[in-house]
Formats: sequence, structure tokens, C-alpha cells
Amino acid sequence: MRWLVWFRNDLRLTDNPALSHACRNGSEGIIAAFNPCFNQWRAHDWGDPKIDYILRQVHWLSAQLGKRGIPLKLAATERFEHTPAALLSLAQRHECGGLAFNLEYEVNEARRDQETIEAFDRDGREIVAFHDQNIIPPSALHTGEGSYYRVFTPFSRAWMKHLEDGFEWRPKPAAKPKVKLDLAADRLPDPPLAHSAISALWPAGADHAKRVLKRFIEHWISDYPAQRDLPAADATSTLSPCLAAGVISTRTCLATICDAFNAQPQHLPRGPATWVRQLVWRDFYRHVLVGYPHICRNQPFQHRMRRLSWRDAPQDFQAWQEGRTGYPLVDAAMRSLSATGWLHNRLRMVVAMFLCKHLRIDWRCGERHFNNTLVDADLANNNGGWQWSASTGTDAAPYFRVFNPTTQSRRFDPDGHFIRDWCQELADIEGPAIHEPDAVQRRRAGYPEPIVDHGEARQQAINMFKMLDQGG
Ligand SMILES: Cc1cc2nc3c(=O)[nH]c(=O)nc-3n(C[C@H](O)[C@H](O)[C@H](O)COP(=O)(O)OP(=O)(O)OC[C@H]3O[C@@H](n4cnc5c(N)ncnc54)[C@H](O)[C@@H]3O)c2cc1C
Repeated sequence: MRWLVWFRNDLRLTDNPALSHACRNGSEGIIAAFNPCFNQWRAHDWGDPKIDYILRQVHWLSAQLGKRGIPLKLAATERFEHTPAALLSLAQRHECGGLAFNLEYEVNEARRDQETIEAFDRDGREIVAFHDQNIIPPSALHTGEGSYYRVFTPFSRAWMKHLEDGFEWRPKPAAKPKVKLDLAADRLPDPPLAHSAISALWPAGADHAKRVLKRFIEHWISDYPAQRDLPAADATSTLSPCLAAGVISTRTCLATICDAFNAQPQHLPRGPATWVRQLVWRDFYRHVLVGYPHICRNQPFQHRMRRLSWRDAPQDFQAWQEGRTGYPLVDAAMRSLSATGWLHNRLRMVVAMFLCKHLRIDWRCGERHFNNTLVDADLANNNGGWQWSASTGTDAAPYFRVFNPTTQSRRFDPDGHFIRDWCQELADIEGPAIHEPDAVQRRRAGYPEPIVDHGEARQQAINMFKMLDQGG
């Protein structure tokens, strides 16, 4: 039988369960499919950086598949509801008796997948779908009461125990098809940011991802616990775009680390163990998304938080987006986000909390802006991070915790290197004043006064949450 393999956010050959299945069973070859769906992507707030990265990855994938006799064909549609028919027509045209793909968990994606399964089923074709995105599939872990976890720490304990109990997490090697097809691949759409500065920062291809991981393990992972919160240290892996698009699997990351330290996941030294914990957070947010799908529909994880009264303040929102809040670390972060399509985790927390707490602007506005600007935009992680910052989510920061952006700046950018890199008008300010320039320094540098006073803004944010408790 000939198999159709539908690639989505699993844009790789190694450790790809759907592709492996087709290689094992495709006695009459394999056709690969990709579904460009620009209108739907835009409706999901995907911005150019993410679309660009994905399309460059698909170009790379098509070339790699071509060498193995697997032509990549397009099933382009405007919206997801047209995808099942487009894929079925592709299967009919190329006489594919089966469809293999790896599951996506977001509500619209899951609905589209279900409709595709039904369309292929009605047409008498086989379908197989695999869990792929998590190290442990989202539905494999449950609390004692049989529900999905709402808190990270017990989830992470159950996660580790599941591995110890013999769960097979080792990645599968790169698949090799039994038969090569002599059929041309389709011409792919051009990436929207081709040859731009952002595009150059995030090269496509699994080899690049493997090199980044190797370098991180060799140079950074042991110091990760001490350095990971310092944006100027460049001490995190920067693998998030690769993981979001599935260029490398989290299983491969885990196995590479375990091999490098010659240890099972539960016995890794502190540095790699702390990094693996971030992969567990990633699994956790996907688990939450499957268990509590209302978060895909713009709803706060905690239902009562629907009643919060956020401010409508377009000018403040714009100042935040453009890095003109008058808080140097916040502004440096937002400018680096616009320029690179990526942001350090500590800074994501700082700017997110600033938007939700200091400006009292709805976290969904910030979530949307991140989606639009990040190369690694990913619904589960992005939503999890924003709802944590807004105190509306799982494990949320308690509402009275409001990061002081100046204190964060002194603590996590102590020498002001990151600020000077991105707020160049402040580069001449020496010493600790960089964190909180005085009025004269600001005037000279052409840098704005703070748009809010930290103390007042903090109190107003706390009042907003207290009103909720009082039924206001
Ligand atoms: C407001 C906010 C929004 C965020 N939006 C996204 C997003 O759209 N896409 C995204 O991939 N991550 C998001 N994160 C999580 C985190 O900031 C990034 O994954 C991380 O900064 C990526 O850098 P890295 O690859 O160097 O991470 P590393 O520190 O090297 O971590 C390795 C990997 O673990 C995962 N990871 C790390 N931290 C977290 C976390 N807190 N939650 C879940 N997974 C994590 C990522 O896949 C990351 O690539 C967000 C966090 C916040 C606070």
C-alpha cells in the first residue's frame, strides 16, 4: 500500500512516528503532504516570523524527503474546514490507501484532524495517528481522582515516575522508505521574511538544531541553573523555535542529554536535570491544554478570572509594544523581541507581568502580540506563560506578586549589558543608574519618563483582584 504522511508541526525525519509507520508499511512508496493554510494561520494570530520559519523548514524537509524518494505535495486551503477534502483528493490522485500523521491538540486543530479521519474512513482508507509532541503523551498521566493535573509539581513527580515505570521514551532512528517514488515535489510558497535579519538568526534544518543542542550541552548546560535567568549571558538553549515546529523532538533532546551524562533522566546532575525540568513544563502545558480545552478559546484557566476588569488603554499598549514604557529592562526586552523574534524566558515574565499588572491590560492582548512576533509562538507555552503572569492560570503567580521591573533589572541584568545593547540611547549612562535613570539623564538621552509609577500601579493591580474577591 502507498501511504500519505501529513506533516504539520513535526517537520523532521528523525523520530517521527507517522513517517516511521509509513516507511515500515509503505510497500508502494510514500507521498508527503503539507497544508499551507494562510487565512487560518492569520486567524490564529500567527505572525510572519513563525510562518517564515515554518515555510523555510518545509523547504528543507521537501529537499530531504526528495532524496529519499518521497515527494512533498501541497494540499493548500484557506481554512481548516477545507483541509480534509484537500487531503483526501491528494490521496485519491496519488492512490494512497492510508494516511499517517502526528496529533495536534489545540481545539481547532483537533476538530480538523477528526474531520479528516472521518473523511478518509468514509472513503475506505486507513488512518493512523500518533502522539508525538510530548515526551509522555498528555492523556497518559492523571491525578489520583482521574482528572488532568492543574498544578505543576505533582505533575512533574508523576511524569518522572512514569519514565521510571518503563515507559519507552527513547527516540526512533531516521526512517528509511522501502520504495522510492519518481515523482516531482510541488513548488512551495516563499517564506514571507526571506533574507531578513530575523530569518538569518533562525536557520532551518535538523542539523542546525542538533548543533545547537550539542553546543548547549558542551558549554552551557552545567551552569544552566546559575545562568538561565541572566538574559545577557545567552545561557539558555534557544531551541524553542525548533521544538515548536518539531524540527527536533523533545525525546531526542532528552536522550541526547542522558547519553552525554551517561545517566537515566532521574539521575542526571543538577544542570541537565534543571533543563529537563523545562521540557517537563512544556509537557505540562500541553497536558493542561488537552485537559482544559477552554484555554484555547480565549478563556482564563480559572473561570472566576473572567470577571476581571482590564483597562482599555491603546496608547499604553503601543508604548509597551514599541519599548517606550520608560522602564529600561522592559523596553530593552520589547525592542529585542521585535528585532529577533525571540525573547529570554525571564524577560517574557517581566514584560508580561508589566502589561497585565502595571498597565492592567488584558493578558490576551499580550498573548496575541507574542503570537504575532515570536518565531517560537506556541499556543500551549504562550498561553501558560501569559496566564501565569496574569495570575489567571495554573500555578499562577499569586495576584499580589507584582515584579518590580527596576528590581528585576538590578537582579537579572546587574551590569546593564542587556539594556545597553537594546536601548542604545542609554548606553552612555554608567553604573547602576542604567536601571533607573534620573530626569536629567532621560532628557539628555531622549528616553521617556516611566508611564506608570511602580508603587501606585502595583496597588491598583492588587485592588483589581481584590474587587473580584469581594464580588465587585
Ligand atoms: C509570557 C510567556 C510567553 C511564552 N511564550 C512561549 C511561546 O510562545 N513558545 C515557547 O516555546 N515558549 C514560550 N514561553 C516559555 C519560555 O519562555 C520559552 O520556551 C523559552 O524562553 C525558550 O528559550 P530556550 O529555548 O532558550 O529555553 P530553555 O531554557 O533552553 O528551555 C528548553 C525548552 O524547554 C521549554 N521551556 C522552557 N521554559 C518553559 C516554560 N516556562 N514553559 C514551557 N516550556 C518551557 C521550551 O520548549 C524550551 O525551548 C513563554 C513564557 C512566558 C513567561
